[in-house]
Amino acid sequence: MPAQKRHDKIKREIERLKEKKNAVILSHNYQTLDVQDVADFKGDSLELSIAASKTEADIIVFCGVDFMAETAAICNPDKKVLIPCRYARCPMATQLTPEMVVEAKSRGYPFIAYVNTFAAVKAEADICCTSANAKEVAKIVAKDGVCFMGPDANLAHFASGNGVDVVPVPEHGYCYVHKAFQVEDVVKARKDYPKAEIIVHPECNPDVQYEADFVGSTSQMLRHVVKSESDVFVVGTEIGLIERMRNEIKEKKFIPLRKSTCIEMKLNNLEKVYLALKEEKYEVKIDEEIADRARKSINRMFRVLDKKR
Ligand code: SF4
Repeated sequence: MPAQKRHDKIKREIERLKEKKNAVILSHNYQTLDVQDVADFKGDSLELSIAASKTEADIIVFCGVDFMAETAAICNPDKKVLIPCRYARCPMATQLTPEMVVEAKSRGYPFIAYVNTFAAVKAEADICCTSANAKEVAKIVAKDGVCFMGPDANLAHFASGNGVDVVPVPEHGYCYVHKAFQVEDVVKARKDYPKAEIIVHPECNPDVQYEADFVGSTSQMLRHVVKSESDVFVVGTEIGLIERMRNEIKEKKFIPLRKSTCIEMKLNNLEKVYLALKEEKYEVKIDEEIADRARKSINRMFRVLDKKR
């Protein structure tokens, strides 16, 4: 069967199975365009956590990496959460263990777990955050102006300031996709595209953040490019978001700061989404006691932010 015909057939089958099984597909902004195309909801970690907690579907197919699907399962203990590829594991999430959280907390300050962590880490933390709200959460929960955050040291740096010292645990935790961007890339982009706005993710190195015009989560970046009067943007994040921007905002131009791809995110594909729905695999299972404690950390994030608004 020609590739396009097969592709269209899989898409039709996915739609049929979604309806038959009352399933919903959530896709992170870093998924390939064909996966984003069959999704009922696309977004960053925060938006997907909210979408997962509000859905009335019986089955959630989560197109992202392991910790994201885990978060959806934590928020929906009565639903079946599936991840299309069981090898889609975020390497950054493995850099922070529950023991490291317990040890840091013994020093007397609150611990904020980035949502890019496993359930057992969230269970030990005081509260969660995402790249969209890390600054806000740190300001609210810091004790005497100090708190811990992990595993991304660049996000901890981004959340620091205005009298708040966010101490990273581990000291040099990182996302390899965002670590790839160098300040030289920003200098070159300024020269090559003098009229462009340079926008980057808070997981980028601090010097890259300082030199950029805007720093935000993938959804904040997306909203920013829609609102901005600029027509050209140099974007410092995973290539999937740039593909989404090009696909949805045709009248503006998007240039990658450097092509950086998350191999683990790309392990999901349309065929695997179809098989996930058809065979109801791979189900995300979390120990109940750990899930209950992790849910408290996630809910605390929503509660403190709601209270402030
Ligand atoms: S982009 Fe970075 S943080 Fe996100 S899943 Fe890939 S490695 Fe993990």
